[in-house]
Amino acid sequence: MLELKGLSVAYGSFTAIESIDVLVQKGEIVVLLGSNGAGKSTTFKAISGLEKPRQGEILFEGKSIGGRSPGRIVESGIVQCAEGRKLFPKMSVSENLIMGAYVHRKNKKAIKHSIKHVYELFPILYEKKENAAGSLSGGQQQMLAIGRALMAKPKLMLLDEPSIGLAPLIVEQMFEVIQQINEEGTTILLAEQNANAALGIASKGYVFESGSIVVQGTSEELLSDDSVRKAYIGA
Ligand code: ATP
Repeated sequence: MLELKGLSVAYGSFTAIESIDVLVQKGEIVVLLGSNGAGKSTTFKAISGLEKPRQGEILFEGKSIGGRSPGRIVESGIVQCAEGRKLFPKMSVSENLIMGAYVHRKNKKAIKHSIKHVYELFPILYEKKENAAGSLSGGQQQMLAIGRALMAKPKLMLLDEPSIGLAPLIVEQMFEVIQQINEEGTTILLAEQNANAALGIASKGYVFESGSIVVQGTSEELLSDDSVRKAYIGA
């Protein structure tokens, strides 16, 4: 579904990712691991069209999307749920969700259906639907960010550190919902520092270090790899 081939992205003279190859098959959950600054967010920005590749290709469903605008990339079915959430804090929960359906704005029935689905996945958002997004807890804001991304009915969802700053119990719920979203048909590319939880739901992963991929493998392989365990699982 998504293929990064020899992809490099630079900020001025600084190369943030260098010649990476990533393959995401339809229906998979794939995880990008790596410490802060390793290049995961830059990879997402390149896929979303927010940074232009310096070299290499980004193929989505067989077509090159490397030069497309962010809006066209959303229309083709890739939606990023950003780290830091970037909600509209003064707007209500339901208004934030409706903003997420911008690409389907002409189809009111589809929007209604999607909102209902988001409220089923996250009942707390239904309870708080009239509340300002900025008044929600961190975990609830993260749920709203995922819900808002879902409103665009993505084929591929990019999730940048969904567990960051959340209490362990909430993290567990978050990963369960991510798995459910995947089972309902959305392919997921996930960047995480919580390697254990992420590999628990992913089929495979790539480990980034200073802008390059240094290890890759199935989740089982990565979970039993000593260097991965030492660096990201603490065992
Ligand atoms: P994090 O989890 O902290 O976001 P990351 O793995 O996602 O880490 P990136 O944000 O992709 O890493 O950053 C990769 C490198 O590029 C880092 O060295 C970072 O300082 C640098 N970088 C990121 N954004 C910019 C920018 N706009 N201008 C210059 N350098 C940048």
